[in-house]
Amino acid sequence: MECKYYLIETLGCQMNERDSETMAGMLEELGYGRAPDAAAEERAGDGRGAARHGADVIVVNTCSVRENADNRFFGLLGQLKHVKEADPDKIVAVCGCMTQQRRVVDEIRNKFPWVDIVFGAMNIEAFPSMLADALEKRRGISEGREPATPYAMSVDIRPERGEIVEGLPSRRRHAHKAFVNIMYGCDNFCTYCIVPYTRGRERSRTPDAILDEARALAADGVKEITLLGQNVNSYRAGGVGFPSLLRLVDDVPGVARIRFMTSHPKDLSDGLIDCYRTAQNLCPSIHLPVQSGSTDVLRRMNRGYSKESYLALTDKLRDAWSDIVITTDFIVGFPGETDADFDDTMDLIESVRFDAAFTFLYSPRAGTPAAEYGDRVADAVAHARFDRMVKRLNEITKEKNLAMLGGVYDVLIEGPSKTDKTMLTGRTPGGKLVNIRPPEGVGRGASRVGDIMAVRLTEAGTFSFIGEFA
Ligand code: SF4
Repeated sequence: MECKYYLIETLGCQMNERDSETMAGMLEELGYGRAPDAAAEERAGDGRGAARHGADVIVVNTCSVRENADNRFFGLLGQLKHVKEADPDKIVAVCGCMTQQRRVVDEIRNKFPWVDIVFGAMNIEAFPSMLADALEKRRGISEGREPATPYAMSVDIRPERGEIVEGLPSRRRHAHKAFVNIMYGCDNFCTYCIVPYTRGRERSRTPDAILDEARALAADGVKEITLLGQNVNSYRAGGVGFPSLLRLVDDVPGVARIRFMTSHPKDLSDGLIDCYRTAQNLCPSIHLPVQSGSTDVLRRMNRGYSKESYLALTDKLRDAWSDIVITTDFIVGFPGETDADFDDTMDLIESVRFDAAFTFLYSPRAGTPAAEYGDRVADAVAHARFDRMVKRLNEITKEKNLAMLGGVYDVLIEGPSKTDKTMLTGRTPGGKLVNIRPPEGVGRGASRVGDIMAVRLTEAGTFSFIGEFA
C-alpha cells in the first residue's frame, strides 16, 4: 500500500505541542507516517519546504499569544498556498488558538479559501472525521461526483469546550519525557492575554485519568513527566487539588522526575511549596511568570499579586529548597509603564536573581482589555528597556551557571545534541541544559539515552553547559 505522510507545524506553547502530539497520534492511527524531513519543519516557519511537499496532510497548529502572531500565521498560510497549488489533493488543516477567533476564521475564508479544514483549540477531537470528509470531497472531485471547485473548506469551531474527551491517541515527540495535560483553559483574564477567550474556562481532568496516563507513560519508558495547564495551581477535580495530585503522581512507579507548568503566583499555595520538601521526585525548578516588578502595572494586568507578595513567594520557595531553579516571563512596555515602574522590575530582577527568563515586548491582542488602553509606551523606549533587561538577565544567568561549575548533577540523557551530533544532551533536575561528550571508546553512548547519569559540569555558557560523565 502506498505510504501517506503528514506534517504538523506547531507554533506556540507546550499546550500546543501536546495537542500536536494528539493529532500526530490520530494521523498515525489512520495509517499516515511522519513526513521525511519533518523534524526540520515541525517548528513552523523553520522549514525549507521538503517535508511540506512530501506530506499528504499538512496541519498548522496556531498560537495567538506571541508577538506578531497574526503576521506569522497569515505569512505561513501564504507560503502554503504554493504547496497546495502544486498538489491540490494535499489536505491543509489549520487549528489552534488563532482559529478560535471569528475574525481570523473570516480572514481565512476570504483570503485563503484553498485551506481544506479549520477547527479550533477546543475541538481537536473533530479532526479525524473532518479529515475523512475532506478526503471524500477530494475523491468526489477527482471522480467527477462533486463540482470541480478547487475550494471546499470545512469549518468547525466550538465556542466552549464540552466534556473533556479522554483516550485520544498520541504520538510523543520524546521517548523519555512527556507532557501530561491536567487541565484546560483559564479563568484568570489577565488583561493582555487572549487565552481565556481561545481555550475557554478552566476544566480539570480526573485524577484517575491523569494517573492512568502517567502509569502508561512509565510503562513505556518515560522517566520525566511535566504536568501541564495554563494555571496548574487551579487544578481541582473530585476534591483533589494540585498538591494532592502531585503527590499521587509522585507515587507512580518508574516516574523519576516530575515538573509542572505553568504556576500562577497568585495561586501558589504553601501546600504546593511544601511538596518541594516532601515529594520524592519533584524537580527543584519552577516557572513562575511575574510579568512586571511594578505593583501598579501588575494591577492593570489583573495579575492579582504585588511585587512584595511575589518576592515573599520566591523566599518561601528558597526556604523549601535553597537552590531551586526559578524561571519567569516578563512583558516589557505594557501600556502606562513608566520609568519608575520599569525600575521596580529591574529591582525585582536583582532581588530574585532568576535562573532564566522569557522576555516579551508588549504587543496588543485584539479582543483583550489592554488592547484598548490608550497610554502606549513609545517603541524606542520599550526597546531600550527590553535591551537593558535582557542584558542584565543574561548576566545573572551566566553568573548563576558559573557558580554551578565543577558540580556533579543527575542528568536525564535525552539523545544526541542538536548542535553537535557527536555529543549527548540532557537536563539537570533544575532543568539546565547540558551537552556531554562521551568518553573515548564509548561511541555516542546511545545505550545511555533515557538513563539518568551523574555528570560533572566543566564549562558554563549562558544557555547551556558542557559536561562529562562523573
Ligand atoms: S493566567 Fe493570565 S496569562 Fe496565563 S493563560 Fe490565564 S489569562 Fe493568560
